[in-house]
Amino acid sequence: NLIGSEAEEIFFTSGGTESNNWALYGFTLLKGKKKGHLITTTIEHPSVLEVAKFLESIGFEVTYLPVDSKGRVDPDEIRRALKPTTVLVSVMHANNETGVIQPISEIAKVTKEAEVPLHTDAVQTVGHIAVSVEELGVDLLSISAHKLCGPKCVGALFIRHGLNLPPLLRGGGQERGLRSGTENVPGIVGFGKACEVAREALVEECERIRNLKIKLYEGLMDRIPGVRLNGDLEGSLPGILNVSIEGVIGETLVLNLDLEGIRISSGSACHSRSLEPSHVLLAMGMDKKRALEAVRFSLGRWTTYEEILQVLEVLPKVVERLRRS
Ligand code: PLP
Repeated sequence: NLIGSEAEEIFFTSGGTESNNWALYGFTLLKGKKKGHLITTTIEHPSVLEVAKFLESIGFEVTYLPVDSKGRVDPDEIRRALKPTTVLVSVMHANNETGVIQPISEIAKVTKEAEVPLHTDAVQTVGHIAVSVEELGVDLLSISAHKLCGPKCVGALFIRHGLNLPPLLRGGGQERGLRSGTENVPGIVGFGKACEVAREALVEECERIRNLKIKLYEGLMDRIPGVRLNGDLEGSLPGILNVSIEGVIGETLVLNLDLEGIRISSGSACHSRSLEPSHVLLAMGMDKKRALEAVRFSLGRWTTYEEILQVLEVLPKVVERLRRS
């Protein structure tokens, strides 16, 4: 119901990583192919990028599409990149570091015309903004329960009726023969409940969280000189704000704010232990310095107005101290 699909088009997996792996392997190796062309983007999550790189290493051809300075893919680039050998296009719905939303329905028009299946990693969007597989026009869509307040280690892959996707996991034939392994019933039930709760609150929460984000962004711009937005305030998820603060390394700010009881992240929370500049921000044309000065604020169901005021009170002082030291 949350994504407007048929129940028979939903296959439960262990999470977003498995769903993404399944989609990419499904149209390449699992179909017995040894070569073929895949289109994806430079800003995907590692669970897409690493699979693409592996497929490339064994003989597949991969086009990694660039993004503009706001982090958006141009659907015309997809049109230009398509080849007779293209087996799949995979473009994420929204980026996990910047929250920037991709023009998936426009991309779908291009892939439909070329009769190439389209996969989208919607791990960041399902439960956060309205997502409809019909409106998006995608053939495959990945979801992860823990990104919408559900349990960890469960997710799903939407597979459109009629799409012949071979199984990634073979065995006892669960999930209509397409995803073997005893079903994670507690996880699936929790995932279902999380979807139900998200659906009921979606419109209200979207607006509430977006207003908090704007308050936070405007407050930061007012109080701290040298703050730059990474991405697009309007064309992004309500709950993700990514900014670079000149003269302060993002990771240092994360640690200092943690001591004040405020948890933010530098780069993506999914792989935040690395001190390399984010591949997403570099792909948007930023230099290494600005990319290392980036921090991500994530706002969600339990973020309050008071907490935003607290960040606006504490952050300028911490930034000033760090700039002096
Ligand atoms: N795709 C995106 C965009 C993500 O942010 C994440 C984050 O974890 C994943 C995929 C992986 O999902 P999971 O943790 O469920 O494997």
